[in-house]
Amino acid sequence: MNPGKVYLIGAGPGDPGLLTIKGRDCLARADVIIYDYLANPVLLGYARPEAERIYVGKSCGKHSLPQDEINQLLADKAAAGLNVARLKGGDPYVFGRGGEEASLLHQQNIPFEVVPGVTAGFAAAAYAGIPLTHRDITTSVALLTGHERPERKLSSLDWQKLATGLGTLIFYMGMTNLKLISEKLIEHGRAADTPVAVVQWATLPRQKTLTGRLDEIAEQVAKAKIEPPAVIIIGEVVRYREELRWYDNLPLFGRRFLITRPRAQAASFVALLQAQGAETICIPTIEIAPPDDWQPCDQALGQLGDYDGLILTSANAVDALFDRMSVLGLDLRALAGVKIIAVGPKTAKSIETRGLKPDLIPSDYRAEGVVDELLARGVSGKRYLYPHTAISRSLIPDCLNAAGALVDAPIIYRTLAPQDKQEMIRHLLESGELDAICFSSSSTFDNLHAMFGDELHQLQGETAFFSIGPLTSASIRKRGFEVALEPQSWTLDALVEAMVEYYPNP
Ligand code: SAH
Repeated sequence: MNPGKVYLIGAGPGDPGLLTIKGRDCLARADVIIYDYLANPVLLGYARPEAERIYVGKSCGKHSLPQDEINQLLADKAAAGLNVARLKGGDPYVFGRGGEEASLLHQQNIPFEVVPGVTAGFAAAAYAGIPLTHRDITTSVALLTGHERPERKLSSLDWQKLATGLGTLIFYMGMTNLKLISEKLIEHGRAADTPVAVVQWATLPRQKTLTGRLDEIAEQVAKAKIEPPAVIIIGEVVRYREELRWYDNLPLFGRRFLITRPRAQAASFVALLQAQGAETICIPTIEIAPPDDWQPCDQALGQLGDYDGLILTSANAVDALFDRMSVLGLDLRALAGVKIIAVGPKTAKSIETRGLKPDLIPSDYRAEGVVDELLARGVSGKRYLYPHTAISRSLIPDCLNAAGALVDAPIIYRTLAPQDKQEMIRHLLESGELDAICFSSSSTFDNLHAMFGDELHQLQGETAFFSIGPLTSASIRKRGFEVALEPQSWTLDALVEAMVEYYPNP
């Protein structure tokens, strides 16, 4: 059997956007993904669902799989004909033992390629606002490890050269030895007031940056209890941070939000929040499931062309509709001549991604808006299809039928409360580190409330509840909770904008 190929892929420092396009493509093709502690697990989302995922992570000395066994695992999987993506934090060839893995593959005649990644030191500098070289200050930069094999105790570093011969120094794995490193540098001629930045969890919303003088930094780090992973950047260029910092100035930097919408629709919301620097944790409180009975839906879809209008009030309904049409062997032509009504811009966007343009989006993005605009246009004698979820209100069919229209309203999807999320959410609330929970529909709140009942009042603590619009707010208030924020217009973009305004500038 021909062996598969091993790709040693740099996952970048944490921010999933910093994976290379080549790395992403390799992940998407792989049969097996073998990944590390420092590779952001979000990246596994690029892998095929059926790809095998093996965690071989280690956190500071605690190896969950010894290095030689990792090496052999790579070789064995490839020898079995599988394509292997070996996903490593940062760059595989920078203190990542990628060299050892590649050597073993070479010895065993397993083909491999290396896909570089953004190494933590470079990324930390960029996100902390520190240009590693600068024409006015220094022309050289060195990457160093502060955690050598114990028997060598940093002795192999040429302190004389490091202290005076090189400009910017970046230490990886240097937190335990920080005191020793700074003493050695000063002893060999580096000025005691050289500025130093310690950047922990670089490029992630939990990034922390501490700056200080070389002779004081170890003490400051101990006081601030900054732990690995962190890089230490030493040199005059650190002074630029004051004017060039940007990441930790983003409006929602340092804030942590719980997103409760189903995973498939959370992505765009998460992207909007992360662009403002926020940390997002996604634990859906609703799951989408098919209807108990497809018959009413299928019957309506079988005569799509007979309807004057198709009313869609959520991205879920859009997805469910097109998925079901596809199952039934129908394509877009089945909708020729049917006017499409979208409740708001997000639903409209989902429709557009399916290759259709809505004919009507009411200015009031609610069922009421749909009804008002249709009534204004005249509905008497017209036939409408309103595929919806089991729990949606009957306002649309009631009002339109009353005005002489014929509305078919088959259930096209159901929302369920997931059973296994309770402990995770309890833990998050109890930690007190959640700034707010964002609710994008009544059911996201109702399901959360159902998990805890009135205990939610105690659990809530300082965590604020943000709501997408009046219906969701009403559900929250009905249970006696306060709505801290509701945007003027009821979209996720507006909610994020309102969140930015809600918090004072950091
Ligand atoms: N191959 C990796 C380095 C692995 S060694 C790379 O190129 O980045 C592990 C060390 O990398 C950690 O101890 C820490 O010093 C550094 N590191 C990795 N990710 C980091 C991050 N997000 N923020 C700060 N330091 C990080």
